[in-house]
Amino acid sequence: MKIYNTMTRQKEEFVPIEEGRVRMYVCGPTVYNLIHIGNARPMIVFDTFRRYLEYKGYEVAYVSNFTDVDDKIIAKALEEGVDAAEISARYIEECRKDMAAMNVKPATVHPMATQEIDGMIEMIAALIEKGYAYQAADGTVYFRTGRFERYGRLSHKNLEDLQAGHRDIKVTGDLKEEPFDFVLWKPKKEGEPAWESPWSEGRPGWHIECSVMSKKYLGETIDIHAGGEDLIFPHHENEIAQSEAASGRQFARYWMHNGFLNIDNQKMSKSLGNFFTVREIADRYDLQVLRFFMLSAHYRSPLNFSADLMEAAKNGLERILTAAENLKRLIDGAQAQEMTAEEKELYAGAQEYQKKFEAAMEDDCNTADAVSAVFELVKYINIHALGQNTKEYLDSLYNELHILCDVLGIVIEREEEILDDEIDQLIKERQEARKNKDFARADEIRDELAQKGIILKDTREGVTWRRA
Ligand code: AMP
Ligand code: ZN
Repeated sequence: MKIYNTMTRQKEEFVPIEEGRVRMYVCGPTVYNLIHIGNARPMIVFDTFRRYLEYKGYEVAYVSNFTDVDDKIIAKALEEGVDAAEISARYIEECRKDMAAMNVKPATVHPMATQEIDGMIEMIAALIEKGYAYQAADGTVYFRTGRFERYGRLSHKNLEDLQAGHRDIKVTGDLKEEPFDFVLWKPKKEGEPAWESPWSEGRPGWHIECSVMSKKYLGETIDIHAGGEDLIFPHHENEIAQSEAASGRQFARYWMHNGFLNIDNQKMSKSLGNFFTVREIADRYDLQVLRFFMLSAHYRSPLNFSADLMEAAKNGLERILTAAENLKRLIDGAQAQEMTAEEKELYAGAQEYQKKFEAAMEDDCNTADAVSAVFELVKYINIHALGQNTKEYLDSLYNELHILCDVLGIVIEREEEILDDEIDQLIKERQEARKNKDFARADEIRDELAQKGIILKDTREGVTWRRA
């Protein structure tokens, strides 16, 4: 299998450190709000990559963090007049719900920065000890970037250029030795969450989190480190500097980065008003459609989000689900007989699409071509699956479609229709739960209904619902 490695800027044959095992780390979201559809892209594409590795028989240790201490979280907490921990706990929970609705598998471990402070203090102390970091007078600890010779290798920047770029920027009150030195530990400001450390009561910088959590859960050298392309510099560059300076070993062997998601060909931003949360999309679509939309492009290409493209994804997905449904119906009515010689030949024809699918995925996780192979298989099934076929043949076709869609994280069994009476019953139960302040159960019911495509709206007159 080939992977495009950002470090070498070429596709390389993937060889794991340990046969049959893959250690993979994907930078997760900062949890101060509902995740947006841009955040969903790395979740979906790297989950699909992981599923493909598992399909190939690898055991995958997949670690993805939640950044739960950060300026934005603190700002939001101040705005609401609550603890930062309350904000992060709330949005971690919401993020997990969105991930489940997008059929993103939970990571093997989802570490949280605030639970790993000891490890960070340890790594920072080791870096100071080795001369790679220093404490400033105010209790801030900086990484001594100039000491790390390989700095800039991932982002293909060199220190002289960075130095030249920084020279014009005069920062007053800055206690750094060099402008490109970055923060490992910062002293707290009033009202901020803080931990004791040898340098000051304070909190870690963002980059040190991932270095420490990756090491703790996956070891000093891992196979794959991934995230959005905006993280290449400075985040991943800094992670490499910290980890390799501390361990003296290579940090990650392959670096994978997804391209950005834009909206109507513009950068997504709150100020432009073209900003969608995953939750907003869930009001209009089954999130399988969002997943399918993301996978119809190569993960490294920029991807444009628009209503038309979502409609196209919805129709494409519908074609697959309809073929699966027809097959199921044929299977139910078929004779339990073994495949005939002629069917064996036809089935061999169908397996060509599985090979095509694999070839696409082997080529740097080309999900766009993998999706095309699935469409070709669907077309083939629509022609070659008939009422007179044997059960074994029809089952085999169904299994093939099922397995390939499962790698993409697409569920081909349609949700059973939920009846109006059942909906009313669940809404009643939810009202009861709320009355009893059992908000967990109330939320659970709302989510259960949402998964079945039922959208609730709380109005002054009571609860209304509609089908998505
Ligand atoms: P953040 O919470 O900003 O640290 O982002 C979490 C993950 O989402 C990172 O891997 C980012 O690179 C990725 N990400 C953020 N915005 C986008 C976007 N518009 N398109 C693709 N990936 C994004
Ligand atoms: Zn990270």
